Amino acid sequence: MAVDGRVETIGHFSGGSWRDLNGDRDLLVTNPATGAVLARVRLADAVAVDRVVQDAAGAFPAWRRTPPVVRARSLFRLKELLERRADDLARVITREHGKTLDDARGEMRRAIENVETAAGIPTLMMGYGLEDGAGAGIDEELVRQPLGVFAAICPFNFPLMVPFWFWPYAVACGNTYVVKPSEQVPMSIARMADLVHEAGFPPGVFNVVNGDRVASDALIDHPLVRGISFVGSTAVARYIYARGAERGKRVQAQGGAKNAIVVMPDADISRTIENVLGSAFGAAGQRCLANSLLIAVGGVADRLMPPLRDAARAIVVGNGEDAGVGMGPVISPRARDRIVGYIERGEQEGAQLTVDGRDVPAARPGSCFVGPTIFEGVRPEMAIAQDEIFGPVLSVVRVESLAEAIDVIAASPYGNAASIFTESGAAAREFRYRVPTGNVGINIGVAAPMAYFPFSGARASFFGTLHGQGQDAVDFFTEKKVVITRWFGTAEAARHHGF
Ligand code: NAD
Repeated sequence: MAVDGRVETIGHFSGGSWRDLNGDRDLLVTNPATGAVLARVRLADAVAVDRVVQDAAGAFPAWRRTPPVVRARSLFRLKELLERRADDLARVITREHGKTLDDARGEMRRAIENVETAAGIPTLMMGYGLEDGAGAGIDEELVRQPLGVFAAICPFNFPLMVPFWFWPYAVACGNTYVVKPSEQVPMSIARMADLVHEAGFPPGVFNVVNGDRVASDALIDHPLVRGISFVGSTAVARYIYARGAERGKRVQAQGGAKNAIVVMPDADISRTIENVLGSAFGAAGQRCLANSLLIAVGGVADRLMPPLRDAARAIVVGNGEDAGVGMGPVISPRARDRIVGYIERGEQEGAQLTVDGRDVPAARPGSCFVGPTIFEGVRPEMAIAQDEIFGPVLSVVRVESLAEAIDVIAASPYGNAASIFTESGAAAREFRYRVPTGNVGINIGVAAPMAYFPFSGARASFFGTLHGQGQDAVDFFTEKKVVITRWFGTAEAARHHGF
């Protein structure tokens, strides 16, 4: 990274060092809480992407020959560095993204857990075999092999964690890697690249190319890139999946979401409220697992809503770096305008606006702030019940039964996550059995799978078969080679040597 005046310029981390491969397009990165300019980021064109991919491809043969246990040691060293620098990195996340420091620390923890899990690669990557598997004296075995260069195209909402769903597993398996962060939040992954270098990964094993859709397309189209992991909105996920498949690539593409939280009449009200608040308004509603639709069953809304409204109004909105702040800004003034547009639309659709996020002191037009917002009397067909708003807007729908609640969820094209709050095992089991989402929470507000489970998702929230994290990631990043072996001399050798 170069520092120009007081604003640093972030180029591309390629072949073990920072390089300013092209300078014709760049973008200013700003702190959404203060509007301060934090950095200038270079936006790669296809030529710059090619240089980075070539560096990654050049590092592949030697890295592939490095034994898995030795590759794992680099991850152990990185884990130690990440632990030591976790707080500094969390501050960078908060500055470029806006989420509170506590939230950013949680994001760091999730990233580190993926390094810990991927460090088990000697076990995770094992194949299997069967003596006499293909007939008497003919053995059969399966080995997993890395494929070459993989790349991730990442969203803005988890600047550091999302790349960690993929890259530690990819390089642990012996591949080399290119991360393209969101052009809105390039800083935390840039700091992390320096730590990867410090941890002793050979140059070219881990690379970062900064850019926008031009860089995404160049990565997908590059003949040396064997597979793409994408996380972002559904429209782009669908496009990347199709474009990658057309070029014969492996693609896993995670898309957008509209997650629902079902509250049954027997739910523990105070714990439910705590979880609904965290889920709907944490990170200002900019989580792919945020529950932005509350489906209240039977009469539970009459007991749930008054304290929920009060608690939402009590959330302090401000700079995520300041103590006592419960919710930071959204990512940009443009995002705020989109969210405010949805608030206006909800009013026009006839929903009842019981908590108005435009009323909080920080929520001035032109800023990135909008406070917790609650709509009640929402009907499932309204846009505020159907669209991913990706902001702190909770829509409350009332239904009579669990079956009706599941029908509302099933009618959505998305399938990322759903939660139920209940004290009934039977209701919870029915929900788990029938709900068509990839991640399910039972008395859990944010059903985020741990690193050793796949980060699931279904329908319009996921395109592909193998997910990020854990064993799924190892399957995605390796080729399964099946070897059948027969030694013709076996019988004679046995007679000769007496075995
Ligand atoms: P986005 O789709 O706008 O951008 C994601 C990435 O794609 C960025 O790196 C961007 O540069 C690139 N990109 C954007 N438009 C492109 C195009 N037309 N062609 C090629 N590349 C393009 O998403 P975002 O606003 O950064 O992130 C928010 C979205 O991500 C939300 O929809 C959220 O639900 C989703 N998300 C999903 C998950 C999940 O696990 N399913 C996790 C996190 C975020």
